[in-house]
Amino acid sequence: MKEEQSKIIRQQAERSSKREHSVPLYLTSSFIFDSAEQGRAIFAEEEEGMVYSRYANPNTSEFIEKVCILENAEDGLAFSSGMAAVFASFAGLLSNGDHIVSSRAIFGSTHQLFTQLFPRWGITHTYVDAINPEEWEKAIQPNTKILFLESPSNPGLELVDLEFLAKLKEKFPDLILVIDNCFATPYLQKPLNYGFDLSIHSATKYMDGQGRVLGGVIVGKQTLIDKLMFFIRHTGPAMSAFNAWILSKSIDTLGLRMDRHCSNALALAEALEKHTEIADVKYPFLPSHPQYELAKKQMKAGGGIVTFEVKGGKERAFEFLDALQMILYTSNLGDERSIATHPGSTTHSKLSEEERINLGINPGTIRLSVGLEDQNDIINDILQALESSK
Ligand SMILES: *Cc1c(COP(=O)(O)O)cnc(C)c1O
Repeated sequence: MKEEQSKIIRQQAERSSKREHSVPLYLTSSFIFDSAEQGRAIFAEEEEGMVYSRYANPNTSEFIEKVCILENAEDGLAFSSGMAAVFASFAGLLSNGDHIVSSRAIFGSTHQLFTQLFPRWGITHTYVDAINPEEWEKAIQPNTKILFLESPSNPGLELVDLEFLAKLKEKFPDLILVIDNCFATPYLQKPLNYGFDLSIHSATKYMDGQGRVLGGVIVGKQTLIDKLMFFIRHTGPAMSAFNAWILSKSIDTLGLRMDRHCSNALALAEALEKHTEIADVKYPFLPSHPQYELAKKQMKAGGGIVTFEVKGGKERAFEFLDALQMILYTSNLGDERSIATHPGSTTHSKLSEEERINLGINPGTIRLSVGLEDQNDIINDILQALESSK
């Protein structure tokens, strides 16, 4: 099999003696040893074998293998949530005195890690405006260990030039390049192919794609995954077998779903761009996006999120959200159902006004996670809500 789509669909935990076709759910905390000698050998890492589901489980391993296929990764680890994965990628690799350089436009909880928690353990950070590549090099200090970024960013949909950063790493080979690749998914963007060390996903979003379970995953270089394995074995942020079983089935249709998310999102972005009640539309695959060329180069399609600003500020934005009939207002994204969010009063409400403006979040900004419904139904719901909130 050559194509990744065939490979992930055919990747499956070893068939049991029951000859099942679909993979069973391995709800077991531990695994038995055939003999005392085997127990000794597995613990001594002389023989491979599962021990305890905090370390590994057939369902989590199957899920990880599929993500590794999609990202061309050597190995990976699964976590209870996206944030557990993000936290581990730092806590498992950094020590007191270390420094992180990060793009400014990052997920809210990751910002809280950098600003509220890591300073307690002597880990500092510098933010750069990812759109200005020269800022990265200037921000690197002798104690910098990790360069971290999200692309496209949430909710501003700014891109970071992956090839540029991979080149920068050639100059600073000891730096670890880490991306939160959640918005793009491994189907649309493959950072490890550029030379990134680790790629992180909140599997809660597009990998599940149906708004059911939490999960996180890190894939990348073997040496780093080994270090992180030590961290998760002894700190316990493991993914549950049940969530892995759900996610492993969902990921088989990731590519099919992303094609539809992306074509629906592009159609919506094009419809909104012409609309007189809209002040601004951001979508990476709109030619008006300031980084359109970069988007075409590093992404297969523009993704499932469209961010736009309604005229009339916060009041109008609230009226618009309340006027939506089909689309629901919730803070998740990547679901098969379209979801609208007002980042300024929810996901990014803890930031100062100035920080929000810096991230392109205005009072009228709406983030739309475009679902898999019929394109016209999505667009028509938004158009009627714009009309009735005039
Ligand atoms: C949702 C999200 C996370 C956190 O994931 P959880 O599964 O909710 O813990 C991290 N990064 C990005 C970009 C996200 O969208």
